[in-house]
Amino acid sequence: MSEEAREALARLVVDVPDFPEPGIVFKDITPLLADPSGFAAVVAALAAGGRDADGVVVVDKVVGMEARGFIFAAPVALALGVGFVPVRKAGKLPRATHGVSYALEYGEATLELHEDAIGAGDRVLVIDDVLATGGTVAATVQLIERCGGVATAAAMLLELSFLPGRATIGDLPLTALMVV
Ligand code: AMP
Repeated sequence: MSEEAREALARLVVDVPDFPEPGIVFKDITPLLADPSGFAAVVAALAAGGRDADGVVVVDKVVGMEARGFIFAAPVALALGVGFVPVRKAGKLPRATHGVSYALEYGEATLELHEDAIGAGDRVLVIDDVLATGGTVAATVQLIERCGGVATAAAMLLELSFLPGRATIGDLPLTALMVV
């Protein structure tokens, strides 16, 4: 990863204690989004998760999860020259969907994916801002598999290493730009 991306994350992701509830330290990425060079450096670093060691693109789709995953996954898809696919909260997608329910670090949620959004055998890069318990990524992997695709890699800005995210996602290769 570029030194610029590392520096941008350290400087522009802000810890907000006790949000959205007591005991949670929320990682606020909005200052990073407001800094175009930092944002660009982070997008380039995430996009590396969809290339092999020679720089060849090895994914067919990039999936991002509502809502902050969208912000990063869409420019990563454009950088790689592949399609972006949104994973949304229940009831938001207008056509036939697959759905998976799962537990969050705080609360519970159902995620959905259009049934035809990913083709059989498609290799998919999963992008989100924070890996916490790993439930969101694990649910997204299930959705991709229900479409017949394969989640081949995940890339996140931040991994919260005091939570069991890595264990939850099993052997899915993960690039975390910053581990806290
Ligand atoms: P999890 O499913 O527990 O891995 O949670 C990941 C999802 O919740 C991501 O989409 C994050 O955006 C969000 N999230 C979880 N914990 C935090 C946190 N401490 N700060 C910011 N976002 C978080």
